[in-house]
Amino acid sequence: MKLFDLSGRVALVTGGNGGIGLGMAKGFAEAGATVAIAGRNAEKGQGALAALGPGAVFVEVDVTDPESCRAMVARTVERLGRLDILVNNAGVANRKRPELYSPQEWHAVLDANLSGAFFASQAAYFEMKRSGGGKMINIGSMMSIFGAAFAGAYAASKGGIVQLTKALATAWASDNIQVNAILPGWIDTELTRTARTQVEGLHERVLARTPAGRWGVPDDLAGTAVFLASAASDFVTGTAIPVDGGYAVQG
Ligand code: NDP
Repeated sequence: MKLFDLSGRVALVTGGNGGIGLGMAKGFAEAGATVAIAGRNAEKGQGALAALGPGAVFVEVDVTDPESCRAMVARTVERLGRLDILVNNAGVANRKRPELYSPQEWHAVLDANLSGAFFASQAAYFEMKRSGGGKMINIGSMMSIFGAAFAGAYAASKGGIVQLTKALATAWASDNIQVNAILPGWIDTELTRTARTQVEGLHERVLARTPAGRWGVPDDLAGTAVFLASAASDFVTGTAIPVDGGYAVQG
């Protein structure tokens, strides 16, 4: 369908070398976009390219470093000619009670999840403005809405993502840049495989609370990502859409 067609578009997905990022990147490629995936682990990145069809590229980045974010955008434009869609998906978790965090551990989570999204957006803004518009998608979490004893830094960063989304959406609407967030429910990835070993009973609690009756898979995020990256969402900005099998509305 033309409304959702991404032919001729270039999408850049941070943390697109695995997990949820790769699930969304595959959706963009299927909708016709050329995709750049970015991350720290080049070997994982090169391996992921096979799932994205011809033309896809891997770009190395550490999103905690503003200069690295600027270089990521420059490399993408150099190799693929333009930048229409940015997904701020790179993220880390550190599960422990708040009283046990060192300042360094706190900063590591906030730097990757929140500052990283800001630095990458800032870098992409200038390219999108120059070409007449674009789409930014920030990845939040159920921890954008809820709290958990083991998620002080993570929940702070993901709550921040929702407010950052609103602020960027209002700032850049007049440049024809729409900025939205996706809040994934519990998705089976490397990140949550570790969580299941660290947090007792998590697997069962997620199953019991999710009306859909299952954990999500990375491909579950692709449809909403394509919607938010396409002309179908041109009048949608500043919002946060849960993709969670109903987890957030279960009483
Ligand atoms: P993964 O651990 O599989 O993916 C995280 C990705 O982020 C990796 O590809 C990693 O790349 C990248 N990354 C981390 N730090 C940096 C950095 N400093 N610079 C560049 N890239 C970085 O986990 P998920 O796929 O599960 O997570 C993806 C996003 O979805 C995260 O933001 C996470 O918080 C969010 N999320 C996940 C949920 C889930 O249930 N799985 C639920 C809600 C939100 P590399 O390996 O190269 O370092």
